[in-house]
Parts: sequence; structure tokens; C-alpha cells
Amino acid sequence: MTGPGRPTLADAIGQMDPGDRELALTARDLLTKVYRPGLHEVAAAARLADGAIVTGVHVEASQGRASVCAEGGVASAAAARQAGIVALVAVLRRPDGAAYYLIEPCGVCAELLADHHPAAAIWVGDQGQPVRIQAADLLRYRVSRQRRVEP
Ligand SMILES: [Zn+2]
Repeated sequence: MTGPGRPTLADAIGQMDPGDRELALTARDLLTKVYRPGLHEVAAAARLADGAIVTGVHVEASQGRASVCAEGGVASAAAARQAGIVALVAVLRRPDGAAYYLIEPCGVCAELLADHHPAAAIWVGDQGQPVRIQAADLLRYRVSRQRRVEP
């Protein structure tokens, strides 16, 4: 959703340190390149513990449940490198214009990130303000999993 409460990417970037700003710009540039309305509307970039930056792109399916989130793509890329996520920024673009917004993980991705990368810094919008929080705090009352893995 692009409700009035969602921070623009420009506002969010203004609050980021250079490392997170690099992630935001990486995600934005990727989304500019691959954006297709209704098909690829979100891109995410994350810095890993090994220093690499990995990315993911939202892939919408004709049946909504089969869709893949950008954050899921990032989590898969991190697993492939056997490295934990240090920080993650996801960017949304909607068909109604060229504006970019900061977007927080959906509930499914919040659980995925909290399971595997609880200490990762995730940028979210809180009352319209861009905020950097830990993945473990995305779902405060979630059931914690025994099989959580953090490299
Ligand atoms: Zn998601």
C-alpha cells in the first residue's frame, strides 16, 4: 500500500548512514531496471556479514499465494553465501507513478528474517517515519522457532 504513512525513499535515505544508503540506492536502481507493474514492484538489497551486497526482486504470480517477495530472494541469496544479513532495505514502486517508497517486510518475510537473521537491521516505516529496527522486533509476539539458524 502507498498510504500517506509510507515514507518516501528520499526521506528514508536522508536518515541513513552511508552503508544503508548504498543498500537503498542499490535496491532502487535494481527496481528501476526490472520494474514491471503488477509483476515486479519491490526490490530489496542487504549487506551480509561477509561484506557482500545481495539483492532480491518481488515476483508476482497469477495466484497471489505463489508470489515471491524481494526479501525472500535476499534470504535465499544469503543462505547461498552462508552469510548472515547485517542490514536490509526494501523499496516499493507503484504503477501510479515513478515515486519510490520504503517498504517493510510482510508478515511472512518478517518471520523468515526473524527466524534466520534476528539481529539484522531492517528499515521500516513507523507512523510515516523511516526507522531502523532489528528483525527480531518485526513480530513482537511471534512464536520463536527452535530451528532458527544464524550463520
Ligand atoms: Zn514478504
